[in-house]
Amino acid sequence: MTHRGDSAMRALKRTTSIGMLVATVAAAGLVPLAAGQASAAPPAKAAGYAGSCPTAGTVTQGWHSGHDGVDIANNRGTPIHSTGPGTVIVSGTASGYGQWIRIKHDDGTVTEYGHMYERLVSVNQRVSSGQLIARMGSEGQSTGPHLHFEAHASTASTRGMDPVAYLAQRGVSLPCTPGSGTPGTNFTTWGTSVRVRADARLNAAVVRTLTGPTPVYVQCQKRGDSVTAEGHTNDAWSYIPALGGYVSNIYIDHPAAWLPGVGTC
Ligand SMILES: [Zn+2]
Repeated sequence: MTHRGDSAMRALKRTTSIGMLVATVAAAGLVPLAAGQASAAPPAKAAGYAGSCPTAGTVTQGWHSGHDGVDIANNRGTPIHSTGPGTVIVSGTASGYGQWIRIKHDDGTVTEYGHMYERLVSVNQRVSSGQLIARMGSEGQSTGPHLHFEAHASTASTRGMDPVAYLAQRGVSLPCTPGSGTPGTNFTTWGTSVRVRADARLNAAVVRTLTGPTPVYVQCQKRGDSVTAEGHTNDAWSYIPALGGYVSNIYIDHPAAWLPGVGTC
């Protein structure tokens, strides 16, 4: 997850301890949930569309009799994509899932996405394969950020089919990497008492303080006030949607001042 580069520079950045030393990092547990299940598994249909990777991450629980889908864990805020072209038939809240999305694809199959902290599509909306539809969360019955992904033979199906086989039929094998054009990427902050601000300015309101290294999804970056630490100066700031604000790139664990692969806000 962490992008390594110039280790000397990285070590240099690491030697800096800004602010008061505070305690622990709450490392997000990646224990998945057991989702609700029903009986009667319909037969899997043949491949009907060219699939796209639903999200990047680690498969923490597969499909089995007590689990209707597959769990893919990653940082909160990780982009979630439609696995194929179709129409959104559900986008809202649901007990257990917290929030969920269902997409009816052109081959009649339905994919289901649960636990997101942010939904980006609405009912009746047409989506393309690979389109960004949500961001990963831990809403509902969940102990850590992950995507619960299900695949159904039709809207009448009461139990999901094996999503790994379903995706494999459509050219996607898990774990997978979303296609090019995906905005943002994942990094880890370093340092203690790192302030997340409402804007890329030192006089902007502090919306949150990070007590230690924190995995973050950076949506975009922009130029703002210069921040100097241990002889290094950087005026780039990262926008972290899950934290609702900006962190100086000085505190992003990456040797580059301007993060590669991250667009401009
Ligand atoms: Zn699950």
